[in-house]
Amino acid sequence: MSSLHSSKSSSRSPRIAIIGGGPGGLVLARVLQMRGLTPTVFEQEASPTARPQGGTLDMHADSGQVALRLAGLDTQFSALARPEGQDERILDKTGAVVFEQRAEPGESHHPEIDRGDLRRLLLESLNDGVVRWGYSLRAVRPVGEGRHEALFDNGTTETFDLIVGADGAWSRVRPLLSEARPQYTGVTFVEVDFNDVDRRHPHLSALVGRGSMLALSDNKGLIAQRNSNAHVRVYVAARVPEDWVKVGIDLKDARAARATLLQLFADWDSSLLALLRDCEDSFVPRPLYALPVPHLWTTRPGLTLLGDAAHVMSPFAGQGANLAMLDGAELGVALSEAPDFETAVRRYEAVMLPRAQEAAMASAEGLEGAIAADAPRAMVEFVRRRQG
Ligand SMILES: Cc1cc2nc3c(=O)[nH]c(=O)nc-3n(C[C@H](O)[C@H](O)[C@H](O)COP(=O)(O)OP(=O)(O)OC[C@H]3O[C@@H](n4cnc5c(N)ncnc54)[C@H](O)[C@@H]3O)c2cc1C
Repeated sequence: MSSLHSSKSSSRSPRIAIIGGGPGGLVLARVLQMRGLTPTVFEQEASPTARPQGGTLDMHADSGQVALRLAGLDTQFSALARPEGQDERILDKTGAVVFEQRAEPGESHHPEIDRGDLRRLLLESLNDGVVRWGYSLRAVRPVGEGRHEALFDNGTTETFDLIVGADGAWSRVRPLLSEARPQYTGVTFVEVDFNDVDRRHPHLSALVGRGSMLALSDNKGLIAQRNSNAHVRVYVAARVPEDWVKVGIDLKDARAARATLLQLFADWDSSLLALLRDCEDSFVPRPLYALPVPHLWTTRPGLTLLGDAAHVMSPFAGQGANLAMLDGAELGVALSEAPDFETAVRRYEAVMLPRAQEAAMASAEGLEGAIAADAPRAMVEFVRRRQG
């Protein structure tokens, strides 16, 4: 151990900063809290309700669910989860179903949960004061003996024995460990929504079913997911240049945005175009970025990364949040069990980095198969292979 201050046998309790209160950072905080350590999560958002979390996540049995078990939250998760959300259907642009899988009763391989419910579950499991809202990390600077000083936009400066970058794709901790930057994948999503879908849009409710519906063809896709409360989120996907949301489509003008998207999908079946015609008036851009694969760094005392900060990847293998949570849980276990933090971080990174590499390769393969000229053929093969 290079630093007395980061030793758990030191006279004072070690100071751990987790930058970012996403799924990964919150699981880490929860596991550390359960094991008698006292982390602080610094979150740039002003409050838990500053931004709707939106969307749905499937929690995989071998990652997200493992993390929830280590966080002691598996029972509460089961009460909130939607096993029927595991239903999956793939169509082509004519509306023909080319793959369909319905979840059997009791199946819990990857049940869905709303992001908002998951975040609330994690936040409510933390002691008061663990999360400090309105703290946006500006910079990190080494101050010797493996310790680092964090400077926040609100002018606060604090020194820590360990700083964990759980601050997502555009991490401000990552540059201290690696020069890598996320690269545009070539695919942009535009996010649209349907409220009260069963009553207001029964045809779309039937099209999407209880889980996910992916319509894929010609380097494009309409990916719809049912959330709770009869809400459906649709990702309109296209292979477009990185600056398309700036120069190719006006997403602030709902009429213009709708017209551009309808034009882009002009030769798709009318039943699918209803996903663009009838959605609410909000069009949110989500260009997809991924870190280079593999993304590796040399372990450095006093710093590490988890989740998207370490391995942001396209969402096509549905693993990002699951891995972030597993990273957080495993790092929490390592920090509480290893003789010192440096050993803990080394052990954690030795498992996390190769696992992330494998997942990132699968997600790149998923993206290439889904948003492809010959889609949905490769995507169907990919899903079948993933299911063994
Ligand atoms: C369209 C889409 C669909 C997806 N679907 C799935 C899916 O189905 N399944 C799945 O597993 N994954 C999915 N993902 C990926 C998933 O969203 C991410 O991998 C996951 O959220 C990463 O968690 P995280 O905790 O590492 O980071 P994040 O969720 O990005 O959280 C980072 C947190 O850090 C905060 N922050 C950022 N910068 C700072 C700063 N400077 N100072 C303080 N706080 C800061 C942010 O406000 C945020 O709260 C999807 C992603 C996209 C884009």
